[in-house]
Amino acid sequence: MKSLKIAIVGAGPAGLAAALFLARAGHATEIIERFDNPAPVGSALMLQPTGLTVLESLGLGPAIHTAGNRIDRLYGTETRHGRIVLDVRYDALAGGRYGLAVHRAALFDTLYDEVSARRHFVFTGRRVVSTLEEDGQTYLVIEGGERLGPYDLVVDASGARSELVAASPVAPPTRNLTYGAFWATLDCPDGLVDERALTQRYDQAKVMIGVLPIGRRRPDLPKQAALFWSLKVADADEVRRQGLDRWKAAVRGYWPECQPLLDQIRDWDQLTLARYAHRTVATSYSGRTVFVGDAAHSTSPQLGQGANMALLDVASLAHALAGSGDIETALAAYAKARRLHMRLFQLLSLAFTPFYQSDSAALAWIRDRLVAVIAKIPPGPQILASIVSGTLVDPFAAAGLSECNWLQNTVPQPS
Ligand SMILES: Cc1cc2nc3c(=O)[nH]c(=O)nc-3n(C[C@H](O)[C@H](O)[C@H](O)COP(=O)(O)OP(=O)(O)OC[C@H]3O[C@@H](n4cnc5c(N)ncnc54)[C@H](O)[C@@H]3O)c2cc1C
Repeated sequence: MKSLKIAIVGAGPAGLAAALFLARAGHATEIIERFDNPAPVGSALMLQPTGLTVLESLGLGPAIHTAGNRIDRLYGTETRHGRIVLDVRYDALAGGRYGLAVHRAALFDTLYDEVSARRHFVFTGRRVVSTLEEDGQTYLVIEGGERLGPYDLVVDASGARSELVAASPVAPPTRNLTYGAFWATLDCPDGLVDERALTQRYDQAKVMIGVLPIGRRRPDLPKQAALFWSLKVADADEVRRQGLDRWKAAVRGYWPECQPLLDQIRDWDQLTLARYAHRTVATSYSGRTVFVGDAAHSTSPQLGQGANMALLDVASLAHALAGSGDIETALAAYAKARRLHMRLFQLLSLAFTPFYQSDSAALAWIRDRLVAVIAKIPPGPQILASIVSGTLVDPFAAAGLSECNWLQNTVPQPS
């Protein structure tokens, strides 16, 4: 493949990683971001063995590990009887896998610092509203009428509300999920929760509270945790109207030990309301525009795969371009490489989410009785571990990657 001029729309994890992979392969890239100062939105996320392998292949393994916190187990109980309703251990499978919980800013900074160090071109303050194809070349139309290009290829990494996907023939139907969550990032006192676990409490599927220890974003900062509270997006205004004290009392009622976290919340502005939409493109490209990350597939974060799949997407795209003689062949190869993994995990997310976030008492009843059993009897623990790891089907070969050797990696220990 000759060197291409590639526009990357969006400076989120997918866009930044795409710039690094594609420039490394010899292409000329430009990132176009709508915000004046690119920055991460939201609280925390879990990097899985999939996403960690992609970051390692970019040489960013040490940086991200320094800024994150190792997670070995996802553990949840329901509050009425103390039944185990979530219990996944990465070590149910051999190989030493783990997850890494990070502040969103840690992932952003790791990628953005590398993009800046390699002097990638980033156009900021430009919202891409459409593409225009002329004579086999593609232009970007910016809000206000500016035109950028021409480009040989456009990588749409503009996230779940991508305007380019929405205007394309592959636009998927979007299902706005009823439940979202309030998220806050707070200082985490020692001993509050198991630092190696994502810990959750449930009341049926209507209430879900989680604490995810995310370590120190920088060595000079305190250890932090993300606190999240699931709720119906439509109820958020009413919850806010009733006041912080009432909401805190509700959290405390389910989980009194969270008090030191609640004490730090003095204003609703500290809580971000996350809304989730579920959609999957039929094909991951249209003409000379290729979709990666949430632009191609978005869902609830129940399985913690979105950013990891975004990283796999861009690694696969770079691999497909490197192995093809022309752009059309490469885009078809990319779509094929990601199809099974993407569809499987989108389906699993759609199937699992209502057991943990919905009005259904029946699903919660089934969950409360089944999970503890499945989590103990083989191959249940192994299947659960490979779902959470993102490896239920092999995601690496099609991206030209080999999974990290986790036993040899040095991971910072909680201090
Ligand atoms: C509360 C919450 C928790 C989550 N937890 C996890 C987790 O534990 N693990 C995990 O893997 N994933 C998680 N996710 C999902 C993860 O955040 C997303 O999958 C990931 O951010 C997708 O990256 P992206 O780069 O595709 O899109 P985004 O991160 O949305 O970035 C898109 C970028 O494009 C820019 N942009 C948008 N429109 C335009 C435009 N028209 N022109 C120019 N620029 C534009 C945006 O400003 C942004 O910078 C979670 C999501 C939420 C909401």
